[in-house]
Amino acid sequence: MSSKTIKTFNPRTGNFLAQEHVISTPKELNQKVTDAQLAFMVYRNTSGNERAILLETIADEIEAVKEEILGIATLETGLPSGRIQGETGRTLGQLRLFAEVAQKEFWVEASIDTALPDRQPLPKSDIRKCLVPLGPIAVFGASNFPLAFSTAGGDTASALASGNPVIVKAHNSHLGTHQCICDAIVRALERCNLPKGIFSSIIDEDYELGAALVQHPGIKAVGFTGSFNGGTTLLDLVSKRKEPIPFYGEMGSINPIVLLSSALEDPKMVSTLMGSINMGVGQFCTNPGLILAIEGEAAQHFCSKMTDAIQQTLGEVMLNRAIYDKYEASIAKISSEKSYTLLGQGTKAQGALSVQPSLALTSGKKFLTHPKMSQEIFGPYSLIVLCEHQEELAEILMQIEGQLTLSFMGEETEFDEHVHLIALAQEKVGRIIFNSVPTGVEVGHSMIHGGPFPATTAPNSTSVGADAIKRFVRPVCFQDAPQSLLPMALQDENPLKIFRKINGKWSLDKI
Ligand code: NAP
Repeated sequence: MSSKTIKTFNPRTGNFLAQEHVISTPKELNQKVTDAQLAFMVYRNTSGNERAILLETIADEIEAVKEEILGIATLETGLPSGRIQGETGRTLGQLRLFAEVAQKEFWVEASIDTALPDRQPLPKSDIRKCLVPLGPIAVFGASNFPLAFSTAGGDTASALASGNPVIVKAHNSHLGTHQCICDAIVRALERCNLPKGIFSSIIDEDYELGAALVQHPGIKAVGFTGSFNGGTTLLDLVSKRKEPIPFYGEMGSINPIVLLSSALEDPKMVSTLMGSINMGVGQFCTNPGLILAIEGEAAQHFCSKMTDAIQQTLGEVMLNRAIYDKYEASIAKISSEKSYTLLGQGTKAQGALSVQPSLALTSGKKFLTHPKMSQEIFGPYSLIVLCEHQEELAEILMQIEGQLTLSFMGEETEFDEHVHLIALAQEKVGRIIFNSVPTGVEVGHSMIHGGPFPATTAPNSTSVGADAIKRFVRPVCFQDAPQSLLPMALQDENPLKIFRKINGKWSLDKI
């Protein structure tokens, strides 16, 4: 064990917390991957029911220490207790959703093409396929979701649900919270009598171990949530591996909102947008960082109401020094650049890492010629872009890069008149929203939290919702296999009682 330790930082007081966390060594990393590989030999053969019990037990163990988690997470993140309580509830909900997914086993996508022994000129074999787990998965969480996108977040829950061991690279902004969750998962594994190697974690100091983790030959996929820089750096490392593996990077986004004419005059629009921009001190990947509208009297009036509103908002502390420094530097740059107008700023609350919410304005023409304007500024900031006409707005939608979400605000008749914009949006995002802000992501069966690059590195996936499980599996097909050697999902009797595709048709039938 290393003698080197690190501490987490309290963004309110500006002091480090007392608890020391031991940095992992490369030798420990290797041992954890070996343990995960051995555990995989057992865990991949567990039933959906056994995995469901594990996930339920993890949720119960976390719930049992939720007060302890609340205490440490609020100190480490500066987030208010209501937010941590809400996120704990969401994390438990995600674990229980994946318990249900594991238990019902429909995710295996079983398909059976029955044999045709008399087919001429050659007989046709019996061919059956289903999805199986990949192997040990590396998980990197984000600072702004210390629970729901971290140690026992959606990546861990979906990987465990499909039968994969997990090794988490702890986030250095919330190591105490991470430790509470790790302890809960270890207790759950003991209670379920499952190998310890199914879950472990490492603590890194300078990105070296994180890099070694994604390059380790024993790792079979990576789930990452965090910044564009972090995600693309790790993606580069993964691409240099001898054996290529899937890398699911969920990164930042500016989540454009298009305000159609009626929305500019909606009396509730300003407070709705302000609530979303400032929610969680703007530290959400779904923060609305870009507001698009057509120039005119209504747009000018809207901008002046937004300016008044931002000036009346109170900023809060940000999650860590790096995020604070980046936000302050970005806003200082905007104030000094001619291409933007800094419309207004709120006031700072008390606290070492407190910031002012900020709102800027530019024209469609300037936005189109300054690509940097479309980069995420992580924090309570949004840029209003006033376009000369519809064509300019459409050009912006064509030019912007991949996003997690894009919202349209207006009346249904206006949506009908702007179907071309909605069609353009579909090419760019994972979720199209009508008359609602992007913050707030429901965890369910139909949610897509993903999108084309640079929102993610894998546009064919979602990191939230039941389909997140599909990231950590691969298809295997069995040709003319004896019944006793087939996975239960493919056996003639359909013992799991799941829907299967039999000769191309969905069915619950036995063969
Ligand atoms: P981050 O700085 O990228 O950190 C995420 C994780 O990656 C941490 O464990 C970090 O290590 C590690 N990391 C970062 N850079 C690395 C590098 N160069 N090499 C190896 N490891 C590296 O992200 P964050 O500040 O925690 O989170 C905020 C960002 O996440 C925002 O951009 C937000 O939009 C995005 N986010 C996206 C989603 C989504 O679903 N798309 C959800 C939440 C947040 P350390 O702990 O050592 O820093």
